[in-house]
Amino acid sequence: MADELLNLTCKQLRDKITAGTVTSVTAVEAVFAQIEALDDKVGAYISTYKDRALEAAQTIDRKIATGKSTGPLAGVPVAIKDNMCTDFGETTCGSKILENFQAPYNAHVIEKLRAADAVLIGKTNLDEFAMGSSTENSALKQTLNPWDLGSVPGGSSGGSAAAVAARMCFAALGSDTGGSIRQPAGFCGVVGLKPTYGRVSRFGLVAYGSSLDQIGPVTGNVTDAALMMNVIAGHDKRDSTSVSNDMAPVCNYLEKLNEDVKGLKIAIVPEFNAGADQNVQNALTSALDVYKNLGAQIIEVKMPHLDYAIAAYYLIATAEASSNLARYDGVHYGHRTENPADYVEVYSKSRAEGFGAEVKRRITLGTYALSSGYYDAYYLKALKVRNLIRTDFTKTFKEADCIIMPTSPTTAFKLGEKIEDPLQMYLADIYTIAANLAGLPAISIPCGLDKANLPIGLQILSPAFTEKKLLRIARMFEGKTDYHNKKPVFQL
Ligand code: GLN
Repeated sequence: MADELLNLTCKQLRDKITAGTVTSVTAVEAVFAQIEALDDKVGAYISTYKDRALEAAQTIDRKIATGKSTGPLAGVPVAIKDNMCTDFGETTCGSKILENFQAPYNAHVIEKLRAADAVLIGKTNLDEFAMGSSTENSALKQTLNPWDLGSVPGGSSGGSAAAVAARMCFAALGSDTGGSIRQPAGFCGVVGLKPTYGRVSRFGLVAYGSSLDQIGPVTGNVTDAALMMNVIAGHDKRDSTSVSNDMAPVCNYLEKLNEDVKGLKIAIVPEFNAGADQNVQNALTSALDVYKNLGAQIIEVKMPHLDYAIAAYYLIATAEASSNLARYDGVHYGHRTENPADYVEVYSKSRAEGFGAEVKRRITLGTYALSSGYYDAYYLKALKVRNLIRTDFTKTFKEADCIIMPTSPTTAFKLGEKIEDPLQMYLADIYTIAANLAGLPAISIPCGLDKANLPIGLQILSPAFTEKKLLRIARMFEGKTDYHNKKPVFQL
């Protein structure tokens, strides 16, 4: 019974709750029973809020019992990556420097979820300040992949992806600066959508690389991703990069979701895809066959600048991070060193004690790239490459509705396998980063399992603000396959 309940989609659960056949309290209790059974091992959550969640669930149940109208996520338990500010509990960013930080306000997306009557149950683990691809950079805890407890869940939204995969929530929010929603979704066999830059407000999202960061949903299926987008997308004047509803009207992402896109043209970049391992390439080929059988046309294109995406990204992201993280100075927020000798030590020791190794590496890199004398050679060059990558996309989208490629070059790797070698870790993002550099929407959906029974992600990218079509394209595949229904089997 509990299993049956936990296997419902958000939409099914919401419908049952509003019809009065299941209560939100029952759903919250089932989720917490699952967390209590599994999360000691999986480690998806940094914090959970059972009492608060039960109270919220009761309020929604009461609303329904008294015939009041409820929002599109009525009573559905949702988890939040712990780099989004909540006016309850801590917002840690997986960092010692913010370990006890209590945000004074809610992020825009939190307000939206609340208005939609979602029940917020907890905050999920991440690489410190969302810097990483395995969640191993969290200073607070380790998260394991529910499919194989010896492997990483991906990152940096590894906690959100693991929580959805292990049914310790019905949906979660992640943030994606270079792949942090899609890559962990791929590694954990769930759906992860990075919306167009500007589609979802970043107000209250702790900044990493501000020109790249975007919040999006992690869900068990495409329909729930559309449902979550209906709730979180839209203009917010508190984020100056949030796009106005006139320029890009928000739409109902659920409408026509199950209608195939007629005359679909898919671009692939064979030379780029050749870098993925054989299991991933085979799954990609099979996925393209599914689309061909649905009448889609596949065209091969060249996108010569994609090869430079990682280099450009690690200059731009670190440059922006070095500036964004200057605010953690031991004075305004978070950790302050004890007994500093002078004010210089307040800054230097607080930062030295509070930040982990990867964050320090990136602040150093970014500061170097922005320093006078190197600015032109590195930062400015990287911005030019970013433009060339954008041009590659513009050209491709003249010929095709979307581009399909792997989400990651491999399936989930073993814990500890790459953590000592930052460059190897950076390469895990080779397929996801370009979408952030170009500001485009991209989704990862499950498309198979490798020989070790680990999930493989299929990535679909589309032009800016075409999430509605992107979701339909993803749903076409999902409608013909069963990968999204496969669940990890726990051997605790
Ligand atoms: N893995 C990439 C990085 O470390 C992307 C992280 C992200 O998207 N937040 O920067």
